[in-house]
Amino acid sequence: MLNRLRGLSGRNRLSIKLLLSVALASPAGGVLADEVVNIYSYRQPKLIAPLTDAFTKKTGIETRVIFADKGLEERIKAEGLNSPADVILTVDISRLAGAAELGVTQPVSNEVIESAIPEQYRDPHGNWFGLTTRSRVVYASKERVPQTSITYEELADPKWKGRVCTRSGQHVYSIGLIASMIAHHGADAAEKWLTGVKNNLTRKPAGNDRAQVKSIFAGECDVALGNTYYMALMRTNDKEPEQKDWANSVHVIFPNSENRGSHVNISGMAMAVNAPNKANALKLMEFLTSDDAQKIYAETNHEYPVAADVDVSDMVRSFGVLKADPLPLAEIAKHRKAASELVDKVGFDDGPSS
Ligand code: FE
Repeated sequence: MLNRLRGLSGRNRLSIKLLLSVALASPAGGVLADEVVNIYSYRQPKLIAPLTDAFTKKTGIETRVIFADKGLEERIKAEGLNSPADVILTVDISRLAGAAELGVTQPVSNEVIESAIPEQYRDPHGNWFGLTTRSRVVYASKERVPQTSITYEELADPKWKGRVCTRSGQHVYSIGLIASMIAHHGADAAEKWLTGVKNNLTRKPAGNDRAQVKSIFAGECDVALGNTYYMALMRTNDKEPEQKDWANSVHVIFPNSENRGSHVNISGMAMAVNAPNKANALKLMEFLTSDDAQKIYAETNHEYPVAADVDVSDMVRSFGVLKADPLPLAEIAKHRKAASELVDKVGFDDGPSS
């Protein structure tokens, strides 16, 4: 259908697309309803393509992906009953829980999906499901940090003064970790901790996770926080081989391996609230939890599969054993707002005070 649209002039194409949206959204389903599933994705097209290709090959169901790096939930909200969105794909518990709170998801109860995904990585009400996990680990300079174990708590120790760098405290990856600290220790202790970490910073939080590794390579700081898959992507980056040098200057330490385990976050999926192709959406959601799809996630983006019997990539295995914090992400998500307020309260993003 979309191929046929390509031959038309802009205005005609637009009106046909609108008609298509209406047809897709009609309660009766229409002719197309059995053949397509519409995906609203924050995940990169190049990561999604192998998954959607494999799904179409297996089921004959066509996938249409709308990719954006922000605003998809608001778009679904604005589209209302006419929204063509069937499945939302995104990363991070903050975004998944946020979508549920905004009312753009609907609960799904499905045995195939539930048996594949451990309880701690899905919403008890079925509004979101984790598909892969990633741990927020410490990247530590091989040259300047000989220790091989660490805790998140320890990052507030004055021995790290001027040696820690990180991305913004308001980034969802930071919020997840800070929310987990609140969940484990309470708000007061988390505030003391975050203040301590702030005072140990080399500079104002800036850049993405990869930029922190570059800073360690450049000798600006000694330890940083980052997600596991970035380390794997950097170490295998043939397009930008300088990233291999940055990545090889650090070692990965899984924090709190000796007690509660490392903080883990998810990439995940949700069914859109007015999904016009509900049956196909369910088929896609089931497929994404299958071993075939889980293998693609593990190999393409070096994430940890949620399916217990699918292996991690060789590169991720080389980092060591991940012992994951067993606290359910739904519990951690309850502290997102408090975490964000705490970041502002301690002035985390202003950097070290002295
Ligand atoms: Fe990321």
